[in-house]
Amino acid sequence: MSYTGGGMYYAEPCPLCGSTLWNGRCENPDCEYHWRPKRDDDDPEDRSTEEQD
Ligand SMILES: [Zn+2]
Repeated sequence: MSYTGGGMYYAEPCPLCGSTLWNGRCENPDCEYHWRPKRDDDDPEDRSTEEQD
């Protein structure tokens, strides 16, 4: 995976629940974007498992 910047986090309002998206990941565990972070270049049918908590 490509990693650019150190400690850079991009925050934006979640379009689904109104909470904060951190780099496309919603802080609300009840929100879909918490488990499936929104990405501009993410293919909806491509279920990558590279990110696991
Ligand atoms: Zn959300």
